[in-house]
Amino acid sequence: MQRHLLSAIALIAMASPAFAQGEVNIYSSRHYDTDDALYSDFEESTGITVNRIEDDANVLMERMRSEGELGAADVFITVDAARIAIADNGGLLQPMGSEVVNEKVPAELRSADDNWTAISTRARLIFFDKDGVENPPQTYQDLADPQYEGMICTRSSSNTYMLSLLGSIIAHEGEEAAREWAEGVKNNLARDPQGGDTDQLRGIISGECPIAVANHYYYARGLRNEVAGLTEGIDQIGIVFPNQETTGTHVNISAAGIAANAPNVDNARAFIEYLLTPRAQELIANGNDEYPVVEGVEAAPEVLELGDFKRDELNVGEFGNFSDEAQRIYNEVGYK
Ligand code: FE
Repeated sequence: MQRHLLSAIALIAMASPAFAQGEVNIYSSRHYDTDDALYSDFEESTGITVNRIEDDANVLMERMRSEGELGAADVFITVDAARIAIADNGGLLQPMGSEVVNEKVPAELRSADDNWTAISTRARLIFFDKDGVENPPQTYQDLADPQYEGMICTRSSSNTYMLSLLGSIIAHEGEEAAREWAEGVKNNLARDPQGGDTDQLRGIISGECPIAVANHYYYARGLRNEVAGLTEGIDQIGIVFPNQETTGTHVNISAAGIAANAPNVDNARAFIEYLLTPRAQELIANGNDEYPVVEGVEAAPEVLELGDFKRDELNVGEFGNFSDEAQRIYNEVGYK
């Protein structure tokens, strides 16, 4: 009886167009409403059914590890180069083998081993109180200058954004310089590191933080939506795209890769290639105010308002691989 029921279900499944091309299982640590539109648009245009599991990146990676060769994950999506590097170094990904990825994504925004690619980028900026700061820092290095003693707010050093920023300094200047930088910034802090990036921006408006470090889209979100404690006073916040005269502004990524034990490799590749279509890039860019990675697609209006900038062209995988060293350095200098 049960067997009959199962084969009936299988027949219906095979006959339904949504199943015609099979399925793809997405493990994603991004949870933006607009990602829903991405998934349904992909389903409609390909007939491939999207099954998705959304959770914290570490939970998803642990799940992929424990599933092992019986893996259910096809595509792993996460934010931050450090996280995707951890997945890659842990053997959780496999080469994408996609000409589309190689053609559309600049080499510094995908891994050298072909195991993952950026799908969007985010810039880490310096923000300041226009009323209180006459000479805002122009570089990340300036943040360590004693003239800014007691003026800087950041989130905690264990946050991946902070690890990746220090990772980029390690990659550019070496460990010793990175340690001096971390110690210098720690000595300039206005308060113990706390909260998320929005809280750093709120600190400027409340007067607690003359200078703050945050990703660009938290500011853009304050322009686009009504964000408590931010939108009302946002005119007071000045913006610096750091290191324009030198290495360029540090950018991080949202990234995708094909799971090492993916049961549906072709569909996984098709999904990643879909993420690089103009339509998907637009949805991603407008969803979280990130920068598209594919040329010819524009960022959201609130993001374009921030202006053009030169980005650091260090391969994002390189600083992603330095996250352990970065955390060790932060710990050594007592950066909370
Ligand atoms: Fe964020």
